[in-house]
Amino acid sequence: MPASGSHDRRCRPPQAVNVTATAPKTLADRIEDLLPQTQCTKCGYPACRPYAEAIAAGDASYNQCPPGGFEGVARIARLVGKPVIALNPENGVERPRPLAVIDENVCIGCTLCMQACPVDAIVGAAKQMHTIIPELCTGCDLCVPPCPVDCIAMIPVTGELTGWDAWSQEQADAARNRHDQRMARLAKEREAAEARAAARQAASSAAEAPEAPAPVADDAEAKKRAIIQAALERARKKKEELAKAGAAPKNTERVSAEVQAQIDAAEERRRRLGLQSDAAPAKPAHNDSDH
Ligand code: SF4
Ligand code: SF4
Ligand code: SF4
Repeated sequence: MPASGSHDRRCRPPQAVNVTATAPKTLADRIEDLLPQTQCTKCGYPACRPYAEAIAAGDASYNQCPPGGFEGVARIARLVGKPVIALNPENGVERPRPLAVIDENVCIGCTLCMQACPVDAIVGAAKQMHTIIPELCTGCDLCVPPCPVDCIAMIPVTGELTGWDAWSQEQADAARNRHDQRMARLAKEREAAEARAAARQAASSAAEAPEAPAPVADDAEAKKRAIIQAALERARKKKEELAKAGAAPKNTERVSAEVQAQIDAAEERRRRLGLQSDAAPAKPAHNDSDH
């Protein structure tokens, strides 16, 4: 007799295997993995990723990243099967890694450095002193030019060590994550701003739009009133013609209470329909009920 466990295995449907498919890395992905991720733009591109894409596409040389230095050039050269060449001096020099330091006595709290920092390494608020978190600073220099009071200094902190000797893979990975998070946050903020602008535009267009046509029900009501008004007008003209011909009714001066009630009811109906009478209902001076 089979063990209960084997019976269970035969009767149960096969378990789904949880396999996460990962797309194979492109050449740009693999080049990006080799870059130091300071996001400094010294390569001539707005961040490390676009530079990696440019190298992969053959649009840029692999010797334009000063923070990676000579070792960085050699890493990419090995990947793409090309010779190791010198760093292009037009992009900068390999140097000990610096950290940004704010002179907090001079800072005016303008926030311009925060906006320039590619890895959100600066904390502060408008009109308040700003501070740099040293562990997060990549030494990219990007906060220096926007400072209107020139209170940010770049201080070398790695002694004689330069390039990849002054920057670990863990630091590069952390900087890459922070940059990705920043880009995602900025994209969200942009989307929200665009949505607000679109809502404002829609509201102002609605305010300027011509008045919407009256609802169908109102149209039908207006048509009905126009028909009745035209009928009353015809009746009035007919009455005038009859009066001119001496054939007008002779009993309008003294009407019975019953007839007066009918006149009042008709006037009330006209009033309810919003129709205008030729004149105020002619109340007889007196009627039969006076007697
Ligand atoms: S570290 Fe700077 S120079 Fe190097 S690839 Fe990144 S952005 Fe370009
Ligand atoms: S604090 Fe300045 S130097 Fe440091 S990462 Fe931010 S922008 Fe670059
Ligand atoms: S740019 Fe300069 S003044 Fe403005 S907040 Fe940054 S450090 Fe302070």
